[in-house]
Order: sequence, then structure tokens, then C-alpha cells
Amino acid sequence: MAENLERLKQRIPLLEYLQRHNWKPCRAGSRQELVGLCPLHQETRPSFYVNAGKNLFYCHGCGRGGDLIRFVQLFFDLSFRQTLALLEQELTPAPVSQLLEQTAAFYQFQLHRHPEAIRYLEQRGLHDSDLIEEMGIGYAPGGNLRRHLAALDYSFDLLLDSGLISSQGRDSFCHRVIFPCRQRGQIVNLYGRSIGAAFPHRLLPRSKGGLFAWESVSSFSAVVLVEGLFDLAVLWQAGFHNTTCAIGTQLTPAQLSQLAEQPRRSVYIAFDQDDNQAGQKGSRQLAQRLRGDGIRAHIVQLPQGHDPNSYFAAGATAADFTHCLERAQQL
Ligand SMILES: [Zn+2]
Repeated sequence: MAENLERLKQRIPLLEYLQRHNWKPCRAGSRQELVGLCPLHQETRPSFYVNAGKNLFYCHGCGRGGDLIRFVQLFFDLSFRQTLALLEQELTPAPVSQLLEQTAAFYQFQLHRHPEAIRYLEQRGLHDSDLIEEMGIGYAPGGNLRRHLAALDYSFDLLLDSGLISSQGRDSFCHRVIFPCRQRGQIVNLYGRSIGAAFPHRLLPRSKGGLFAWESVSSFSAVVLVEGLFDLAVLWQAGFHNTTCAIGTQLTPAQLSQLAEQPRRSVYIAFDQDDNQAGQKGSRQLAQRLRGDGIRAHIVQLPQGHDPNSYFAAGATAADFTHCLERAQQL
């Protein structure tokens, strides 16, 4: 185990990893030491030190430090085990990402064979068949994925490791609408929304990746940020292609750094207007955090009790939503 960890760290130098994730050193401390802004907390004066020789970091601002594994764990908000899986996957990406491709294609094929899934999409206000196809939306009826993947020669262990099946061999996704989450073209996770009584949201036990479809959204100077993929889908359907999603209201440092990579970007936060105020509180905290990064953050108010998805499903038009954007409060 310890040997494997050492090998992993040697194959992915910390500095190289940080630079791949847009970290820029602003000055050199000593020969091997570099200093820059901390990717793990918000700051204006650089206090994040990287020792390239020792492959270690330390931040004098938030007091956190360690090796590559520790950094990835904090940056993507993962468990130790998930972090190792993510790094192993970066080194040998092919089998898992192929497996997720095959799975997503299988679920996509199932969608049109299950009227209950199509009915569910309609009920959520999603009816544009081209968009459904383009997003690769599928349906997991449950109980038949394992047989399909075994026929394609995937081992039980790989299926189990990926989280697609349980140790009893059951499908993890059952009666769920599936959205593939891609990063630089590769599927990094699958999100499943229950259409029945089960807990609504489910992701595979791996990184949720960066912001949804960031490759196509990042070129916009004004971006709409929503909580869920159904919110995103109805907004894309209505023509708001500058919409992205963090899958939840808690952004990982990796997702925050994507929003902040272009200063003077405007971000319109359109989270759920819950009765328990959780969405509103999340929006305000996020807006303050973004403002500190030089981002213009606006909070979009929807009619009480609505999220963008339910708003459109209830008959709102693109003009209605544009009106909400125009009235959004800048923090
Ligand atoms: Zn820090």
C-alpha cells in the first residue's frame, strides 16, 4: 500500500498537477519553493507554498498542507479512497471511462423502451427530443446492467469498483433517469434522478468533476448557475446555453476556481427557493465568496417555492426567466 502511494506520487508531480489545474506561482521563495494564491481558500495575498523537490504544499492562510493526495482530497472534496481511485484513473484512464461510456449508451437505449421514463421527463417539462439525445439522457430500469456489461467482458471487480453495482451484484441505479457528466469529452460520473420513492439524487462514489458542460459554457461572460441537471436541461431547452450546474449548492474548490478563472465574469445564481431557506442561504454565501474573487455575483429570485425546473414545467417562458435575470440582485 505505502509503496503504491509513493509510486503514484512520483508519477504525478504535485507542481505539474497544480499547474494542470490552472495554479500559477507568482514568485519563487527559494530555489525549489514557489508561492501563489491558495486554491483551497479565498485570499488576495499569496500564502500557498509549494516545494517542488519534496512534492509538498503548505498554506499559511488556511493552515492546510501535505502531499498530492491530500491536495486532491481537499480540492475535489473526496475521501482518501476516492482520491486514490481518481488519481489511478488519471494514470490509466481507459477501462473505467470506457465502462462508463458503455453504461451511458445502454441507459440511453433503455429510455425509449420505458414509457414511464419518457412520461417523467415530460412531467419535468423536458420535451425536446434533440436535446435529450444531445445530453445523452438515459434511463436505468434496474436489474439488467450487470448482465449487459458481463457480456461485454467487464469483470465483476471493475463493475463493483466503479460503483455501478453493489457487492450483492445489484444495479446501483434503479428506476432513475441518468445524466452522464462529462469533462473534456470523457464521462467522469453518472447522475441518477429517482422517478419513484427512492432518495432523489445519486452519483457514483467518485468525483463529480468540474462544472457541468464547462467546456461549452466557459466562453460566456455571463453564466447562469443552477443546482440540478433538470434545471439546466429546461434552461438549455429555452435557449439559455450559458447555464452550468454544480450538482448541488456546495461547490468544490475545483468548481469555484473554474468560475473565478475569468475576472469580471457575471454569475447569476438560480438555486431553489426552498421553504427552509437552504437555497437562499447557499446563494448568499456563494455570492459573497465569488465577489471576493472579482466575480459579479447576482442572485436570481424565482416565485416562491420554485426552482428553474418547476418554474418552466409550470409554464414559464424564456421571456419570464429573462425578466427574473434582469431583476436579479447584485451582491
Ligand atoms: Zn489556503
